[in-house]
Amino acid sequence: MTEQLMVDLETADMILSYGAETCTICFQCAQCSGNCPWNRVSHLDPRRMLHKARLGVADLEDEEWWMCATCRTCVDRCPMEVDIIGVMKAVRSLVVGYGAGRYPDSIRLALKSIAGAGNPAGESPDKRAEWSDKIDVPAFTPEMEVLYFSCCVPAYDAKVRRMATSLSRILQKLGISFGTLGAAEKCCGESARKCGNEELFSSLAAGNIETFKQAGVRKVIVSSPHCYWTFKNEYPEFGAEFEVLHYTQYLAQLVREGKLKLTKPVDKKVTYHDPCYMGRHSEIYDDPRFLLRSIPGIELVELANNREDSICCGGGGGRVWAETAKGERFSEIRIDQAMAVGAEILATCCPYCILMLDDSLLTQGCEEVLQIMDIAELVHEAIE
Ligand code: SF4
Ligand code: SF4
Repeated sequence: MTEQLMVDLETADMILSYGAETCTICFQCAQCSGNCPWNRVSHLDPRRMLHKARLGVADLEDEEWWMCATCRTCVDRCPMEVDIIGVMKAVRSLVVGYGAGRYPDSIRLALKSIAGAGNPAGESPDKRAEWSDKIDVPAFTPEMEVLYFSCCVPAYDAKVRRMATSLSRILQKLGISFGTLGAAEKCCGESARKCGNEELFSSLAAGNIETFKQAGVRKVIVSSPHCYWTFKNEYPEFGAEFEVLHYTQYLAQLVREGKLKLTKPVDKKVTYHDPCYMGRHSEIYDDPRFLLRSIPGIELVELANNREDSICCGGGGGRVWAETAKGERFSEIRIDQAMAVGAEILATCCPYCILMLDDSLLTQGCEEVLQIMDIAELVHEAIE
């Protein structure tokens, strides 16, 4: 039976004014729903959600608005170029900004921690640079070439710290002058904005930009594709003028220039998971693969879904803070796909992906045969 929906023009206008304007050009073809990764593990119908948003009858109490991992698969497949992520964000903004509905407690807590402590873990800013204590990464000074911005996850999560330490050791071996801003750095705010907290995002962006300006930062290297994407695409509207590179872009450039020599073999069968904010969002597919191919001994094999067709780890759009039931985690699909191609290492280059994949590796019981590694770890292993 066809669902009858009553139009609520006032709510529709509010949702549209929060950034959902393009949902008016949707012609309900359902390409988005057919390609959403949720329908591999459970159910989500973005086509229907857009229809309800347009009519102003979106149920703001429904957790479906918080399921979207902002992976961009639907946006890339939409023949009308509807900004589907923008629609999700608009409804979330109404809920978070106006208190017009309910949202998951875990996301509420993460946003509160970012607002209070500058990071989603709610840890003290003074502990932000603790990851570097044992490897002597100095405080950034204006004459340094590079600011390394680690992202909150490697900074505070001991399981992902290896991303920051491996990259720092590479930069140290190359004699590159770099430092961090430690306690002065705050969360980049990308996921906070995707969760609809525009006010929090604006204050984080303005604060980080001012901190970078005061410190004399010209070039920033990041570990997270989420930091990369927001620094590059969203911070300029708040006055950012610094150059930003994802670390795989920076290292690939150094290999091409002959400044980084990867000579020590890593004899492993490796496959690569394209993080959504590296691939579909930023269209960086080749630099991570180039680095992996530059390491002698590595046999690089592709996952069943790769490059533009990659499947999200499930951690974007604030989902990294949400509870997802076992059996419904996208990262489980990626572990299965890595096992299917006989990989010994599933490499990636995003802190959220490492967290999600590491977790599923354990819950799937595959840790004896498969390892999740950041590309920086592999590059570090390949330096004499
Ligand atoms: S793919 Fe685009 S046009 Fe088709 S239903 Fe989804 S949003 Fe609408
Ligand atoms: S962005 Fe990804 S998770 Fe969100 S609705 Fe689109 S396909 Fe589904």
